[in-house]
Amino acid sequence: MPEWVVHNYTAKNFCNLPEDICVEINRFIDFNPLEHDVNRIIINGHWDPEALLYLAVVIYEKWGYNGLKCMLHHNLLDYAHKLATAGKYGWLIRNYGVAYAINDIKSFVYKVLDGITNDFSPILKIFENGGGIYEVVQKIESDELWSVKDLKSFVDILREPYIINFLKDLIKAVNELKECMDLCVLEVLEVEFYTQDRFRDLCPICFSSTYGEDFILVPEEYRPKNLAFRVHKKCFEELTKKARELLDKGLNEKETLRKVMIKFMPPSIVWEAVRRAKKV
Ligand SMILES: [Zn+2]
Ligand SMILES: [Zn+2]
Repeated sequence: MPEWVVHNYTAKNFCNLPEDICVEINRFIDFNPLEHDVNRIIINGHWDPEALLYLAVVIYEKWGYNGLKCMLHHNLLDYAHKLATAGKYGWLIRNYGVAYAINDIKSFVYKVLDGITNDFSPILKIFENGGGIYEVVQKIESDELWSVKDLKSFVDILREPYIINFLKDLIKAVNELKECMDLCVLEVLEVEFYTQDRFRDLCPICFSSTYGEDFILVPEEYRPKNLAFRVHKKCFEELTKKARELLDKGLNEKETLRKVMIKFMPPSIVWEAVRRAKKV
């Protein structure tokens, strides 16, 4: 899995999630190994809906909407990280860079998000049309929905008074994550590439060495874990200048981030430049 600083940085800065809740969710998920094996819960771009449901309601009861969104974010990043470090994508990224794997990994992650919507919106629809547990179970038994291994636990969850709000929030969280996960996934891959010893010196903005030159470590939050990127001072200043021009034209911070970022730059570097531009 990616380091928690990367989980937290991307959740907070790209997906607007509250850091304090995500910190608790990270701890809850990673110290709960039975619930966490990404290998088991997300297979070929599909998150087993029954496994997702049991984990999601526990999180929802304790942390509500933002907790649910942090949990999805965490697991999707773990999944992206797993794809980015093992097998053919791991090999491509380690040797050639993120450009060779980013599109495939992104589409796996978005496939997972679409799958959640497809699996859970039929159940929400039944409830919204006045149906209940009986109608849901009937749909399951007629094989029109996904199969359930533990019907008793499943029915107990459907009886919870918050079930309709939970389903609505789950689908809403998925839709909101679609707006930001591309940046988070890219960030995870970039960190993976640039923390290799032989590429550590490379400035991700101009792809030339920072050895013996003026550079800064970005972002600040990654420094304690030795994950920060080395960016030429000059390159960072240029990004900041571009960001300032766009902010002056009336673009907001997120729009500026997307506009300044050229294909495979680590989003965190650009985001820090936007923040710097905002301050000056
Ligand atoms: Zn994890
Ligand atoms: Zn540079």
